[in-house]
Amino acid sequence: MSLTSHFRRRERKKILGIVALVAGVLALAPGPVPGQVRKTCEGGVTLKLNAGVTAQGSLLIVEVAGPKLLAEFAGDWDGRAIPLWREGEKSGTLHGLIGVDLEKAPGRYAWKVSWKNAAGEAKSCSAFVTVRAGKFPTERLQVEKQFVQPDPEQQKRAEEDQKKMRAIFESVTPERYWDGKFLLPLKGVTTGGNFGRRRILNGEARSPHAGVDFPALAGTPVFSTQGGKVALAEELYYSGNTIVIDHGYGIYTLYAHLSEIEAKAGQMVRAGEEIGKVGATGRVTGPHLHWGLTVERARVNALQIVQRKP
Ligand SMILES: [Zn+2]
Repeated sequence: MSLTSHFRRRERKKILGIVALVAGVLALAPGPVPGQVRKTCEGGVTLKLNAGVTAQGSLLIVEVAGPKLLAEFAGDWDGRAIPLWREGEKSGTLHGLIGVDLEKAPGRYAWKVSWKNAAGEAKSCSAFVTVRAGKFPTERLQVEKQFVQPDPEQQKRAEEDQKKMRAIFESVTPERYWDGKFLLPLKGVTTGGNFGRRRILNGEARSPHAGVDFPALAGTPVFSTQGGKVALAEELYYSGNTIVIDHGYGIYTLYAHLSEIEAKAGQMVRAGEEIGKVGATGRVTGPHLHWGLTVERARVNALQIVQRKP
């Protein structure tokens, strides 16, 4: 081996080492995640969205970072107030969740954040999100006739249930009852489906399926997916024995078709606390857990809140 070729080989190794090191550092650097939106606004305020393009029925994770002097931050999404909160007292970052309803018209929407600067002046800044149509399959089911063509009395009951649910989802508790990650409602059952399915029952088109269905045996324990206050715990016409938990800031989870309800309205529950048992009450074709998530009135895929990092 000549001295020059030995030198060249050593040099090449060194260069390759430097290239690998630089690549490693680049991989570790917190750069922008593909698809994420980061907008720099006046006064050093930054708006962050986990996606600039999303589908109907999705959950958007948002963050606002800015100097501590700024105050009175408020968020708005298509005319709806979006609460912002701090996770940790000293944190300079505000967090929020935006629900993109299952039937929200595809288009471009603004998430607008307003605040007051150190001089007390009102400021605002917007980031944009494109909502695309979700790809939801259509399912045809045969259910008992009374659930497709209810008699006037059953119809009245169903309408009263709906009114009650709307009133619950309309109210936004200005307090966060949860902490950390959202859990799944069943132990050992991690796959759920049917979210967003357009349904044709006994040949008639019905509203899309707004929850996630988990197959499970009747009697399987159901757990609260995070801390909250029980907003409803009773039998409803279509969803059978139902529990709705208010997690605060307009975030609600719903558990339907239960065989047993083990919580009372007004009661506080912890994350992972047993609240009932899987059943087949209401409009069903068999026992399963229907789990729903509503964020500021928008019906979104509940599985997406489990994937969110605290
Ligand atoms: Zn369901």
